[in-house]
This record gives sequence, C-alpha cells and structure tokens, in this order.
Amino acid sequence: MTGGMATLAGRHALVTGGGRGIGAAIARRLLADGASVTLLGRDAGTLQATVQALRGQAPAGAMASSVSFVTADIADAESVARAFAAATEQAGPVSMLVNNAGQAHSAPFMKTDAALWRRMLDVNLTGTFLCTQAALPAMLEAGWGRIVNVASTAGLIGYGYVSAYCAAKHGVIGLTRALALETAARGVTVNAVCPGYTETDIVRDAVANIVGKTGRTEDQARAELAARNPQRRLVQPEEVADAVAWLCQPSAGAITGQAIPVAGGEVMAG
Ligand code: NAP
Repeated sequence: MTGGMATLAGRHALVTGGGRGIGAAIARRLLADGASVTLLGRDAGTLQATVQALRGQAPAGAMASSVSFVTADIADAESVARAFAAATEQAGPVSMLVNNAGQAHSAPFMKTDAALWRRMLDVNLTGTFLCTQAALPAMLEAGWGRIVNVASTAGLIGYGYVSAYCAAKHGVIGLTRALALETAARGVTVNAVCPGYTETDIVRDAVANIVGKTGRTEDQARAELAARNPQRRLVQPEEVADAVAWLCQPSAGAITGQAIPVAGGEVMAG
C-alpha cells in the first residue's frame, strides 16, 4: 500500500460500496492518508466486518473511531438522506465523496427487460446523483470538496451484452463533466476514474457467468477478460484506490471534469 502521509487529516470521506471490492481498497487508502472514513452499503454485517479489519490496519496515531459505517440503498432518496445525516453526525460534514457503489449485470440487448434496465440506471447513475446531491451543499459551504465517481471503461466505450450498465456508466461521466463546470469556481472538483476489469466479486461473477453460458473453464474465462487489457492482466482494487486517493489530494485541485482510465491502456481518453 502506498500513501501514509497524513495529507487528508481532518477531512471526512464517505465511500459508497465501501464494504468490499474496490470500495474497501479506497477506504483503506484514504484512511492511510489520514482521512476519517465512513463506509456506506446495504449490508451491515459486511460493513461492520470491514470496519473492524480497517481499524486493525489503521496507521499509528490514527484514532480507532476514524472509520465507521452507515447503511443505505443508494437508489432510494430517503435512505440516502438518512445515511448522510448519520455520517455527518458521526464524523462531521463530508468533504470527499467517492461514488463507488455499483452493480454490473449482463444480458443481450433484446433480453434486457425494463426491470434490469431500470436497476442498472437506478443503482449506477441515480445512486451517484442522489449521493452527490446529499454531499454537495456542505462542500460548497466549506469552499472545498472532492467528488470522485467510480465509473468504468464501459463509461467511455461500448461493450456487448452490457448495454444497460454501459448506458448508466456513460451517464455517470456526463454528470461528472457537467457538475465539474458548475462547481469549478467554488473549490469543489468532480472527476471519474474508469477501471477496466478489476479483481473483485463483479469479475468473479462475470467469470462464473461465462463458464455457465459457454462451457469454458474458469481459467479460460479469466484469461478472456484479462486479454482485453493490453497488460494481459486484471486491474487490482488497490490500483484504482491509488487513482481515487490522488484525485482527493489538496494538490489535485486543478484536475476537474476528467474521466481517467485505470485499465492498462485498454482505453485511451483524449
Ligand atoms: P463489488 O465487489 O460487487 O462491490 C459493489 C459494492 O457496491 C458493494 O460494496 C455493495 O455493497 C455496493 N452496492 C451495490 N448496490 C448498492 C446499493 N443499491 N446501495 C448501496 N450500495 C450498493 O464491486 P466492485 O468491483 O468493487 O465495483 C465497485 C465499482 O467499480 C462499481 O461502481 C463498478 O461498476 C465499478 N467497476 C468495477 C469493475 C470491475 O471489473 N470490478 C470495472 C469497472 C468498474 P452492499 O452489497 O453491501 O450493498
């Protein structure tokens, strides 16, 4: 793990989907940089276990209470409002929001029913909208804030069999760019990171899906996903976390409205 300089000391970060996968790696990294961190997710058991694990790894001098959790379904406005109120009560106003929670379900376009379409948009796009609306007023009031949206390479280019997910992630990048302009002169940066296939439950599920549908072995299915990356490997959650932490630094204040691929060269923005 890199980091360890307390460059984010005294600041409160809320990481949605912080209980596992990329979100847990982001939480660990922000904590190492000295931030107070609140994890948000739906499953209290998973969140509680991650909080315990993070407390065990907190750097010397960090207070045990600097990591905690709140539960919410990010697609539900009332639940989001309650969770942000609780997080603010526990650790003060949120000055860094990482919109990481998301779901990826695949289906050929003609088998994408309205329920799947709506779920992908609700969680990945509307969830980002609702959490950002909940966090932004305090950032504007303070004149300082960081919003980092974990989009995907699927927010920059198309992939077959994930049209709803792709549409939602493209939407997240549009939201990132538009809001970055609205907040540019008010101390709040808004950026997206766009991971390629990253080694988490989402990829484990995708591998199981390929094995189930095509009869390929697990190794073949993983190799197929890794082959999209010019480095011929899956991205690691810690690599995404490093990019997010960099965008949160006070020194990254000139970077806003960007969508930065973390994908071994799979996508070249620009
Ligand atoms: P993951 O391991 O499946 O974790 C997803 C997280 O999102 C969980 O913590 C989950 O927590 C939370 N979540 C899901 N639905 C939620 C909801 N309605 N309300 C609140 N929390 C919710 O996934 P991951 O791979 O770490 O993905 C994190 C982000 O990276 C996602 O936005 C994903 O689209 C993006 N991404 C991933 C990859 C990849 O290959 N892994 C590639 C590109 C982009 P609960 O279940 O406790 O609610």
